[in-house]
Amino acid sequence: MSLLSGLASLLFPPLCLSCGGDLANGQSVLCLRCERAISEKNYQGIINGVPFYTRLTYGLEISQLVLLAKEENNRAARKYLARRLACALTDSGGEIGAKIILIPAPSTRAATRARGFEHGLLLARSMRSELAYISRSERRAGVDLIIVQPLKLTRALQDQSLLNPAQRMANLQGAYRFDANFRALLEGERSSREGRVAERARLDLDVDLYLNGAADQKAHPAARRPYLVLVDDVMTSGATMGEGIRALRSAGFEPDIAILACVSPRLISQ
Ligand SMILES: [Zn+2]
Repeated sequence: MSLLSGLASLLFPPLCLSCGGDLANGQSVLCLRCERAISEKNYQGIINGVPFYTRLTYGLEISQLVLLAKEENNRAARKYLARRLACALTDSGGEIGAKIILIPAPSTRAATRARGFEHGLLLARSMRSELAYISRSERRAGVDLIIVQPLKLTRALQDQSLLNPAQRMANLQGAYRFDANFRALLEGERSSREGRVAERARLDLDVDLYLNGAADQKAHPAARRPYLVLVDDVMTSGATMGEGIRALRSAGFEPDIAILACVSPRLISQ
């Protein structure tokens, strides 16, 4: 800790991001009470035929963290959610191949403009950092992981949080389209075409190789198609995720898995 940040934490001791209560020694984000209320574990279920994994169920404490990350660009809250996203992906187990494509849910232009950042993209980037950290600390084999946003909004959307489940479904129906510029990438092609796509939409595409992912690809040129992972912060009604799955399928891509920071308990299989 630097002298300055040490001094700052003496003057302004960090508080629980959820309830604003005091943090015990060693706690950096949530107080003991909030942490106990959250009870993190490996949850799973199926949404529109696609298996999903999460570490958290949606509740008061988590909704506060999601709001901080989403509306206030709070880095500690985002990192907390991203770590759980990364853990949920590793929990999903199985052989996930040499290449993973993370597909974050798109935000509306209005929301991105009002916030000054794209929440889904930042969350996916933070998830990638946490995955790299987990890989290094557990000495796992590296994977080639890219973040791609092939889902685009076809129209303005109402704020889902103000709608009931039926209205959410109607609000999202046909709201996404698949951007064909990303077809080759999702099919596993990494060519100069990808460079051109990246050039054209630098924000849309974030390429990263971590650990020995690149070497793996060379050793196994016949790598299978990429593993498609839909990523979102919250799933309450399943309407947003359902629309993402629909839009990908309409373009001929079957998502392998969905990873959520938190999910409404009623959607989780017991
Ligand atoms: Zn608290």
